[in-house]
Amino acid sequence: MFASMSMAVRYLKSAVFAKDFPEGDRPEIAIAGRSNAGKSSYINALTNSRIAKVSQTPGKTRLLNFFDIGAHYRFVDMPGYGFASRSGDEMKSWQSMIEDYLSLRGNLVGLVLVMDINRDWDKDEEMLVRFMYTVGRPVIVILTKEDRLTAGEIQKRKKAIQKASNIQNIFTVSTVKKTGVKETEEFIFQNWVKGYKL
Ligand code: GDP
Repeated sequence: MFASMSMAVRYLKSAVFAKDFPEGDRPEIAIAGRSNAGKSSYINALTNSRIAKVSQTPGKTRLLNFFDIGAHYRFVDMPGYGFASRSGDEMKSWQSMIEDYLSLRGNLVGLVLVMDINRDWDKDEEMLVRFMYTVGRPVIVILTKEDRLTAGEIQKRKKAIQKASNIQNIFTVSTVKKTGVKETEEFIFQNWVKGYKL
């Protein structure tokens, strides 16, 4: 069974603090990426909707945005990262919000890290992934914009990022050509959602 068979998407709310999160009554998958990585396009392609525009409305870009996907799971769209371009205070508040969420949320089952296929694995990605490992939760990487490369180049980029990150589950997608998106959904559903017990 694929989640998409009954996949209506519903925006629940946006929040910063645990007291404001929706009830943790289904598995949650966090989605992170630098700005421009293609995260919104990926969420829209996966859900066959324009739902990710909610996350881009002013005031919501620095919050955790909660969306129910069908009846089985929930996405939590996290604000774009990339510490280099942020001021010290901004970086600190981002970090404490993300770390609190990732470490304290009981129904969080995994992190999807969305990256432009042409970007290299960097210390921001490394920091986020290490943090997930310290809280004992899995990570997959989704490389976007594969339509810009040849099949050979895609494999090369994928291998390079696999090597740099030491992450096995790396997927490549194009939201323009709609390639690879279903495979990511299938992985998430089969590995993180299906066997989940409240
Ligand atoms: P976000 O900031 O991570 O949410 O990124 P967006 O989803 O807004 O995408 C950033 C830019 O990359 C936009 O101009 C998109 O049209 C473009 N983009 C996103 N995904 C793809 C893709 O798969 N292929 C191509 N060619 N462009 C993409």
